[in-house]
Amino acid sequence: MNPNAREFLNFAAQSPTAFHAVAKLAELLEEAGYTPLSEAEAWQLKAGDKRYVTRNGSALIAFRVPEKLESFRIAAAHADSPTLKLKELAEDAGQHYVRLNVEKYGGLILSTWLDRPLSIAGRVIIRDLNGLRVKLVDLNRDAVLIPNVPIHFNRQVNDGYKFNPQVDMLPLYGDGAAKGRLNQEIAETVGVSAQQILGSDLFLYDRTPGSIWGAENEFFSCGRIDDLECAWTALAGFLASESAPDFMPVYSVFDNEEVGSTSKQGADSTFLGDVLTRSGEAFGLSTGEIRAAIASGFMASADNAHALHPNHPELYDAQNRVYMNGGVVIKHSANQKYTTDGVSSALFTKVCDAAQVPCQHFANRSDILGGGTLGNISNSHVSMNTVDIGLAQLAMHSSYETAGTKDVGYMAEALKAFYGMKIRMTGDGMFILD
Ligand code: ZN
Repeated sequence: MNPNAREFLNFAAQSPTAFHAVAKLAELLEEAGYTPLSEAEAWQLKAGDKRYVTRNGSALIAFRVPEKLESFRIAAAHADSPTLKLKELAEDAGQHYVRLNVEKYGGLILSTWLDRPLSIAGRVIIRDLNGLRVKLVDLNRDAVLIPNVPIHFNRQVNDGYKFNPQVDMLPLYGDGAAKGRLNQEIAETVGVSAQQILGSDLFLYDRTPGSIWGAENEFFSCGRIDDLECAWTALAGFLASESAPDFMPVYSVFDNEEVGSTSKQGADSTFLGDVLTRSGEAFGLSTGEIRAAIASGFMASADNAHALHPNHPELYDAQNRVYMNGGVVIKHSANQKYTTDGVSSALFTKVCDAAQVPCQHFANRSDILGGGTLGNISNSHVSMNTVDIGLAQLAMHSSYETAGTKDVGYMAEALKAFYGMKIRMTGDGMFILD
């Protein structure tokens, strides 16, 4: 992997949904010699093994097996992004139009989804001779669009119009003749008959191509930068890092962060804890030894941060504000929306120093709530010293977001150093050895 903005845009374009992102991450891992493990089978591991395991096809954890398992070094990101999801019975066919019935997935900026070419991707569950099979699907063409109402009928559209997702956000798929066509098109795309499709999870995505722009090409834009940028750069850092003899480097990507993480494949699940425990068991460690290894671990929860908005600096804290191309962001919150504390902030500052990567500090204005992420949720299941980090971006949860080109390499370098650094925990203390 070559961690630069162009390569990232290629990855994002091939990752219209969390299912596609995880499939692509698995492909990159396999190219690097990692082999799949199944949660449904017993695990046998030996030193030097490079493995990965997926859950639901939309969450993934990869790791390298050390000689001695004394602690874990974990980076975590998420693969899902805010979008509109097709309802089970999606077709709304009238005499002149076929619209699709959708609902919100996560906290998207609704207006950004209007008047632009959109497509449909996700997974379908098909019936064949052997039972049921999951197949990824991507129509991969400009298939639908959500039209604005003309300003002549909606004079307040520039004065704070409230979009109703059940009314304003239904995409147009075809004219009256397109009745029944969507199921057929999806079936044709995966090469089965429409009757063979028994279930699906299908989402809209923005078809606007990614772009690198600005006076010195210092910015790039595409859909789903939150949080594919961290998912991809963390993998680059993980793959580039050298193996240590006494701790297990772990790379994890969860689903459903945008809707609260409470699913079997979200950060609020047993997935990470199961993988760490099973790795320890496969090593012949006792329950106590596994707990000690987890307690000695260190985690970086990587999810993007809010760069100072050029037109609205008043929305940001006076001192703790961050900029695109300013390096890795360490996120702070007194009410623990972010896990970072003095210890983990100091440690990650040291990591950035070692990687010769700039780092910057973010906190919300005290009168603005801000957003949450997956670090503290994961910590409620697998508790260890954790830092919340990310890269500064604009327009978070727009269908087309913007970030800094230099930051792509910064995160990969910082996490490479993070995975390689010797850190020893002793009770409540922590010592960095090098
Ligand atoms: Zn995020």
